[in-house]
Amino acid sequence: MNAAGTHEQVDSCTVELPMLGFKQARQKVLDELAKSSTAPKSENVPLGNALGRILDEEILADRDYPPFRRATRDGFAVRAADLNPVPSSLEILGEVKAGTWFEGKIGPGQCVGIMTGAPVPEGADAVVMVEHTRVNGNGVRIDRALKSGDNIVPQGSEGKKGSLILPRGRRLRPGEIGLLASVGKTVVSVARRLRVAILATGDEVVPLEQEPEWFQVRNSNAAALCAQVEAADGIPVPLEVAPDRYEPLRALLEKGLESDLLVLSGGVSMGKYDIVRNVLADLGAEFHFTSVAMRPGKPLVFGHVQGRHFFGLPGNPVSTFVTFELFVRPGMDVLSGAPPEPLTFMRARLGSEVRLKGKLTAFLPARVAEREDEPVVELVGWQGSGDLVGLAAANCFLVAHPDQKEILPGHWVDVLPKGW
Ligand code: AMP
Ligand code: MG
Repeated sequence: MNAAGTHEQVDSCTVELPMLGFKQARQKVLDELAKSSTAPKSENVPLGNALGRILDEEILADRDYPPFRRATRDGFAVRAADLNPVPSSLEILGEVKAGTWFEGKIGPGQCVGIMTGAPVPEGADAVVMVEHTRVNGNGVRIDRALKSGDNIVPQGSEGKKGSLILPRGRRLRPGEIGLLASVGKTVVSVARRLRVAILATGDEVVPLEQEPEWFQVRNSNAAALCAQVEAADGIPVPLEVAPDRYEPLRALLEKGLESDLLVLSGGVSMGKYDIVRNVLADLGAEFHFTSVAMRPGKPLVFGHVQGRHFFGLPGNPVSTFVTFELFVRPGMDVLSGAPPEPLTFMRARLGSEVRLKGKLTAFLPARVAEREDEPVVELVGWQGSGDLVGLAAANCFLVAHPDQKEILPGHWVDVLPKGW
């Protein structure tokens, strides 16, 4: 019996699958969630509220883009053939600025003053930049030769009327919002936000309202996970902390399965009281993997039960954080009908030697800084995967691949920006 007065008998964990490599495990998550039937329905939102949402309709161009031959420079609309040879003097017929149009037609030896964004008058096939001209009364001397089409964007070249300009499943970022506005979409259909249940487990974990005893820790994981879910455009559904006891854990798991996705923290390792896998198995869970060759984050569990997918993230706060970003976030994208963002690394020069153990993919908290025109990365001092102070000091993760044993200073290494 311990100080908390519990002496309930728990089974040690029985569910164990062969360890998967990092890439293999990530692909498994993406494949499984892509074929999941829990994909959410769509809803209409005003464009002003659509940032970060996933588009659930195809957007077609409502007219040609650009809708007319658009000048990309301030200068003169000319016939390129008139500028051979240069210098050449042309008669100025008038001027056209953005928001107006020129009614006449440009003939041989003629030109029209034009501003960026204005429609190029009929007869002209190029725009010469004002910097290459000298105006003299009604005429202009041009000392630069041009090709037909120079400084003009042809009508419909960005998108023909009726063509697909934004596919379904696209995450709406500021650029996409601008494009939607340009085609007059004031209301857009987006995927409903995923509800993601957050279930922290552990007898030592206390809610934030409670002052922890010296042997207890605050439930920081649920706070971080809720923030991560929100940052991934989901709706976090935090549940109360589950103790490492069968009945209350089972009841909370069942509650968590009412959401679109269930994310657990803690209780998934090989300790005597790590009973999450067993309880899930009793609920009928099918496991896709129960450990991944990565550090931090090795005891990572993924599976489905009762039509819902679950992630059992290791409880150490840095492991929880990293595994959410590398597995749950792309999983949420796929479940919402969006292609996952590709996992792209930045390259930086290593500042100090790094030694690694085991055939693992490592994501080590690090700081990258710009030095003498190249990025240089150094590990932050950290006490392992429980160290939230080290995580907060980092602005990236140094990524070491399973075949790398030691990396010497000056080598180029992969870096995953923390970014979130
Ligand atoms: P576990 O994965 O349950 O073995 O937990 C590993 C470590 O993470 C232990 O030191 C726990 O105290 C810590 N931990 C587990 N859950 C949480 C949580 N919700 N918030 C903060 N730390 C936690
Ligand atoms: Mg625990």
